[in-house]
This record gives sequence, C-alpha cells and structure tokens, in this order.
Amino acid sequence: MHKHPLIAELITIAGQAHVLTHDDPATDLSAWENDWRKRHQGRALAVVRPASTAQVAAVVKACAAHHTSVVAQGGNTGLVVGSVPDNTGQQVVLSLTRMNRVRFTDPANLTMTVEAGCILQSLQEHAARHGLLLPLSLAAEGSCTIGGNLATNAGGTQVLRYGNTRDLCLGLEVVTAQGEVWDGLTGLRKDNTGYDLRHLFIGSEGTLGVITAATLKLAPQPAATLTALAAVPDMASAVQLLQLAQTQLASTLTGFEVMGRFALSLVHRHYAHLHLPDLWATTPWCVLLEISDAESESHARTMLETALGNALEAGLITDAVVADSLAQAAALWHIRESIPLAQAQEGLNVKHDISLPVSAIPAFVQETDALLADHYPGIRLVNFGHLGDGNLHYNVQAPADADAAAFLRDAEHAVNTLVFDNVQRFGGSISAEHGVGSLKAATLPRYKSAVALDLMARIKHALDPAHTLNPGRMLVRR
Ligand SMILES: Cc1cc2nc3c(=O)[nH]c(=O)nc-3n(C[C@H](O)[C@H](O)[C@H](O)COP(=O)(O)OP(=O)(O)OC[C@H]3O[C@@H](n4cnc5c(N)ncnc54)[C@H](O)[C@@H]3O)c2cc1C
Repeated sequence: MHKHPLIAELITIAGQAHVLTHDDPATDLSAWENDWRKRHQGRALAVVRPASTAQVAAVVKACAAHHTSVVAQGGNTGLVVGSVPDNTGQQVVLSLTRMNRVRFTDPANLTMTVEAGCILQSLQEHAARHGLLLPLSLAAEGSCTIGGNLATNAGGTQVLRYGNTRDLCLGLEVVTAQGEVWDGLTGLRKDNTGYDLRHLFIGSEGTLGVITAATLKLAPQPAATLTALAAVPDMASAVQLLQLAQTQLASTLTGFEVMGRFALSLVHRHYAHLHLPDLWATTPWCVLLEISDAESESHARTMLETALGNALEAGLITDAVVADSLAQAAALWHIRESIPLAQAQEGLNVKHDISLPVSAIPAFVQETDALLADHYPGIRLVNFGHLGDGNLHYNVQAPADADAAAFLRDAEHAVNTLVFDNVQRFGGSISAEHGVGSLKAATLPRYKSAVALDLMARIKHALDPAHTLNPGRMLVRR
C-alpha cells in the first residue's frame, strides 16, 4: 500500500506504470511539471495517465474526494502556464496523452470522433487519408493535442477561412469536476435543445471539466493550395492588401500572415538552413498568403497572380514570390512557423498575443512601437501574426546588449501595462488565442468588465464549487 492514500487509489485506477511520483528518485517528472516557455517550474503530487474516459472520471472523483486539485494536460505546449502544476507538490497532473484513438470517422457527415489526447498532426493525417481536411493548423501541431486545442479554443493559420477550434467542434465528451461523464458526442450541425454546453467547456482551459473526446467538423480537401510571399512597404499597405485579397480571392483565401523584418531576421540568424527568399531583407514587412481552390492548380495560380499583380500596381506590395511546388510552399510556411522557436533561441522575451479590429492595427502598431522605443531605448519588437484575424504576436525582446532575464524581471509588468492599455484603447483583446492560464489571470480584471468576470466566477462556482479543476487559472480565486 502506498503511503499516500490518494496515490494508492490512482494506482488502482490507472495502473502502477501510469502513476508517476517523486517517491522514486529515478523518475523525472519535469516534462509534465515545466511549461513550454520555461517560465514556470512546478512540482506535482503525481502525474496520472489514464487510458479511458471511465479512468479519467475515476481519477477526478478520487482527487475530489481527497480535496486535491487536478491539472489537465495534453501536449503541454500552452503558452500561458495553464497546463502545469503549481509548486506546492499537492496537485495531480492528469495527462490525456494515452487517450489517443480515433473512435469513428463519418466521411458522409464530414465528421470524426476522436479522443482528447490525439496529437493534432496525426488527426490532420487521418482526415487526409479519407480525402478530407481537418482545417486546424498551428506550429505546435506535432505535439499539441486536440483536447488542449479545444480547452484553449486554439486559433492558428486557417481561422480566416474555417474559424477557431470552437467552430470545428460539433460535440464533446467531458468529465465533470464531480467525476460524472457528459456524453455530448453528437455530429449534429443543428441542435437547439437548450444551452449549448459544449461552448462552456471549449476555451475553459481545464477549469470547468476535462475534455475526453470530441466530434470534429471536417472539410473537403481543396484541389489545389498555393502560397505566396509578398514584400509590403508598411502595415497600412498590409491591411489594404488583406482587403484586396478578401475581395478578389474571396473564400479561397485561407491564410494571411504578417511577419516583421526583425522577426524574420531571427529565423535567418538561428535557422540559416531555412534559406529565406531574398525579398525579406529589403522590406519592413512580409505577408504570407495562402489560397485553397476547389477547381485546379492552374485556376488557383491565375487567381493569385492576378491579385498580386493588382496589388503591385496599386503600390500595396513591392515584390512577391509564388511557390511553384508544394515543397516550396511548405518551406515558406516553415519560415513562418519557426519564428516563435527562433525567438526562444534569441532569449527570454515578453509575449503579447493580442487581437484588434484589423482597421485599427496600423495606428496601434505605429503608436505602440513609438511608446515602447521611447520608454525602453534599444528594445526589439518581434511582430508577426495572423493579420487576417486581427491577431498579432506583438512580442518584446530586450535590447541586444541587455541581460534578458534582468530586463524581464524589471520591465515585464510595465511593458505589459503599456501594451495592454493601448490594446484596450484601440478596442482589442489582451489574449487572442493563447488564453489566460496563470500568466494573465491577475491581469485580466484590469481589461475585462466586472460583470463578465462575475458571470465567469458564477459559472465556475456552479460547475466546480470545490475548485478541483485547475484552481486559480483564468480566474483569480476569490
Ligand atoms: C511553437 C508554438 C506555436 C503555437 N501556435 C499557436 C497558434 O498559432 N494558435 C494557438 O491558438 N495556439 C498556439 N500555440 C499554443 C498551444 O500550442 C495551443 O494553446 C494548444 O492548443 C495547446 O494544446 P496542448 O495539448 O499542448 O495543451 P496543454 O498545453 O497541455 O494545455 C493547455 C490548457 O488546456 C488545458 N487542457 C489540456 N487538455 C485538456 C483537456 N483534455 N481537457 C480540459 N483541459 C485541457 C490545460 O489544463 C491548459 O489550461 C502555440 C504553441 C507553441 C509552442
């Protein structure tokens, strides 16, 4: 019998091999205890890895009975310190990664029902084997799980056309804070039989329930996908280019990403083998456009080249390359997706995942850049993001000659306040897609209405009055 009664129960539920604790000094729990950005080192009472919904329910029930809180974890790629335990050594990490089966694929209904621990990329590949598209794509797709995507309502690079993860989910299976199972795995596109509970759990960051499975909406595979990289003289032109592309390319436009020159210079420096096209170095901004066409590649190419020609004539772009093979398109996307990693290589930084009305972005960027440069001479701005969705990753890197850790310690709070106050002034949100976690829980009340926060606290209290699930995350505990 294990000395801690809860751990003995967890072993009975999930099996000895799937309950990891610090009791065995040879067991290294750091992969579950530390967050992706290395901002937080937690300490867990145990990491438990159940293999079925019934086991998840039993784990949550046992933890609740022992007044022990549970932190659900998928791929642990979250960027707001939400998926790792605090450092009390009292929280149980519930890892969903063994729940990785596709339960059912229904090509005629354009859906598939999958378990929460499935890796996103494996689900994209599964859909493709059926000639279908799971239109959710983000740089962490090789490690993040669909449960984590749902819990954070992840965005990514195709939101412009297909929406956030919320828009791709028709049904959910959830284990409640009391250890009950809600089977809401429907493949229905219409169901107005009361409150739509799935939307409570999507984006709730593990604070209201543990997602164990989901029914996802698929789309037909396009006949052709084309990618282009365009050099843009300023942010106002990038926004006008978006308008032009939305008008002339209509719903074929599936991606519209912006990348500042400093962001690209970090990829150039840290991943030189990626061979950036020459145009990046001669322009302040690049835009990566993707179109997906139901007709043919030549149809898509004509459309894209015509739109880019019109943009060139209007002075919105100064140069462009259209990828002429899938490999070249993948290489362009790889550059975009390497920015967060290159930034991590460069050193600690202050990340802002903000959204604004697209129309407000040029003025926001101009004013906020100037304010920051004024307050912190030499500061380096790593600005890139999903411009088509009004979502910028407006990140702040310490001056090149500064001690990055000291800069973060001394300036992070003030930098955040400066940026977020401006975001609010321009009608934006301080978290577009990464969520709140514990990183932004204390900041949220300054920017969200008291009424909204009160409603959120009442929902939390109704579903999880004992604060079993991810306490203190998203909402500061009152
Ligand atoms: C390089 C990189 C690029 C990224 N790009 C994007 C991007 O473009 N768009 C974007 O939105 N995000 C992005 N992210 C953030 C992150 O990948 C996403 O938030 C992802 O959806 C998290 O999935 P995960 O499985 O890793 O979840 P985790 O990190 O394990 O967990 C995230 C949150 O969800 C909760 N959770 C996890 N699984 C469950 C579950 N089954 N039930 C209930 N709660 C659960 C956790 O408690 C935590 O609060 C990126 C991250 C990295 C590292």
